[in-house]
Amino acid sequence: MLNLVLFGPPGAGKGTQSSNIIKEFGLIHLSTGDIFRANIGNSTDLGKLAKSYIDKGQLVPDEVTIEMLKSEVNKFDDPKGFIFDGFPRTKVQAEALDEFLAEKNSKIAGMIALEVPEDELKERLRKRAINSGRTDDADPKIIANRIDVYNKETAPVKVFYKQQDKLHLINGKGSIEEITKAIVKTINAIKD
Ligand code: AMP
Repeated sequence: MLNLVLFGPPGAGKGTQSSNIIKEFGLIHLSTGDIFRANIGNSTDLGKLAKSYIDKGQLVPDEVTIEMLKSEVNKFDDPKGFIFDGFPRTKVQAEALDEFLAEKNSKIAGMIALEVPEDELKERLRKRAINSGRTDDADPKIIANRIDVYNKETAPVKVFYKQQDKLHLINGKGSIEEITKAIVKTINAIKD
């Protein structure tokens, strides 16, 4: 299995880039944000719980998120690999993911971290809100909170993978195609 973490702050382009990369490498895209939103759409208990955090720009608790991720991964028989998008977002999640994959005799091959300046992120999220219908994109206070949570709780996850020599930084400013090219080049280097 080729398992990759696509990492970056809100608005960095993780979703867009994931779609391009799965086509190239035949991987499964697992976005915890998308799964939470699907649950909210279906009014499941998990969706109701997640909504109470998402609407404030806070993280859904680790335990709930980890269990959900595991059950999504377990839905696939003999997968070629996964792109984890928006997960792990805390060190606890990163440790749980390593443990879970080790039980399957697998591991994370690398983390691709998209780097985008904060001003640009805010501008992208403001534009995305017009079409996405995402309430957490529409309110500048919630956006500021999400970026704050990213800096405090999520950015340290980069250190976790750097210590394992798995961190690959990518400039996330530029055209979508240029960034996809840089990511594909990096993944090919990780695979070899
Ligand atoms: P995203 O679509 O990745 O921007 O995620 C939207 C929201 O879902 C986040 O602001 C969090 O509230 C929640 N969320 C997504 N992934 C996670 C995660 N790995 N851990 C905790 N909360 C998450």
